[in-house]
Amino acid sequence: MRYFPLFLDLRERLVVIVGGGPVAERKLELVRRSGARLRLVAPALCERLARALRAGRFEHCARGFIATDLDGARLAIAAADDPSINRAVAAAAEARGIYVNVVDDPALCSAILPAIVDRSPLVVAISTLGTAPALARLVRERVESALDESIGSLARFCAVWRARIKAGVKDLGARRRFYDWLLRGPVSDLVRHAREADAGRLVATALAAGVPPGPGSVALVGAGPGDPGLLTLRGLRALQSADVVLHDRLVSPEVLGLARREAELIAVGKGGGTHGVAQAHIHELMVEHARRGRRVVRLKGGDPFVFGRGGEELEHLVRHGIRFEVVPGITAALACAAYAGIPLTHRDHSGSIRFVTAHCRESLEATDWHGLARGRETLAVYMGVAMLGTLRRELVRHGRAASTPVAFVENGSRPEQRVVLGTLEEVEALARAYELRSPALLIVGEVAALGAVLHWFGTPPAGFPASEQRSVA
Ligand code: SAH
Repeated sequence: MRYFPLFLDLRERLVVIVGGGPVAERKLELVRRSGARLRLVAPALCERLARALRAGRFEHCARGFIATDLDGARLAIAAADDPSINRAVAAAAEARGIYVNVVDDPALCSAILPAIVDRSPLVVAISTLGTAPALARLVRERVESALDESIGSLARFCAVWRARIKAGVKDLGARRRFYDWLLRGPVSDLVRHAREADAGRLVATALAAGVPPGPGSVALVGAGPGDPGLLTLRGLRALQSADVVLHDRLVSPEVLGLARREAELIAVGKGGGTHGVAQAHIHELMVEHARRGRRVVRLKGGDPFVFGRGGEELEHLVRHGIRFEVVPGITAALACAAYAGIPLTHRDHSGSIRFVTAHCRESLEATDWHGLARGRETLAVYMGVAMLGTLRRELVRHGRAASTPVAFVENGSRPEQRVVLGTLEEVEALARAYELRSPALLIVGEVAALGAVLHWFGTPPAGFPASEQRSVA
């Protein structure tokens, strides 16, 4: 480690910046956040610096640099266009024992300004020690996305409780466990949900009892359709702090790969319609693991509230007093439509969408066919492959044209995605001819035809050529 990372208290202390251009201006704005007193040496100022000067943000020495400009400074930043001036600043700083940062010249630097993620009071500084600033920015982006915006509130919360926790939990090991519970358990969740008062009450109770209380919590998380890029940031964070992940088989291995390495992965439930027994077992598992104080992620394909029985699972948790949160996911209809180039609404073709499921006879019998068959509405049919005959017959019988375009999207958003285009009257023949398998989504409506023009992902759409289309009916 050629440079030693350190956080400096620069409040009211003098920092000298040499240079009057945009680079100097960026450094000035950065250092200003520390509350430092700023002196800027430059014969002329760029427009933004001139504005900052009018706002009284720094003291201006309107001339060339002289070594005594650094007298009394803690830190110097050389940001002049002329390398010989920067060299003079570096030499003068060195002579006075002041740290100096020379923009774009690591060899002259005794101090390096890191890339910063500011969730004050939590601050992360990232540096490649001047070798690859672009890489430091990349790492910063990753850290930015890994740190919830609320982490600063959590740090402030800890500051408020620190002395009381130290006094209340004397043993060092016990204190570490207490913080582990505080930072990874319900307290941090409450802080994240902007419920600091409740979080404080929980900590006070735990301190009074001398031990952190159970039970854990459950995050009901939508994993999206398969492409891990379609997971939400919040879903990613939940996976990365999980102790146990109870996942549907529909969840892709790539998404599961994002879970915390130590997390226990348990496959539960089927891809689509989960049977009663299996569902009861899932309920038991969630409660059992949460009761042991673990952070459970219940991970479901797509969105947990769209044909995912997420509601039933939460009702069960409420009955057992287990805390939970819900993280939405991108549901199959949205993902399949996007990845097949089929806009679900379109000013010329469709003004509304319905998500329907056709996974069993009962669900079909209870269906409002009259409403479904209305023109200009797009239907997204989940779990429909087995019931295509009924679907087609009823839609046509209630007035939807047999020539209405349809699209099957199998394995939507995954590398093996297949899209098959055709018309309503052909649905069974298409499913047979292309041997369509679950998971597949059927889109019915004029918009489906746009998939022939707007496709962009994976293999181009297939379908019967127009000449054969007639013979199929
Ligand atoms: N909660 C899920 C749906 C569960 S029902 C969601 O919001 O997406 C399971 C059905 O979803 C499957 O039978 C299929 O119709 C559809 N489905 C899920 N993922 C899919 C994918 N990647 N491609 C196509 N259809 C998918």
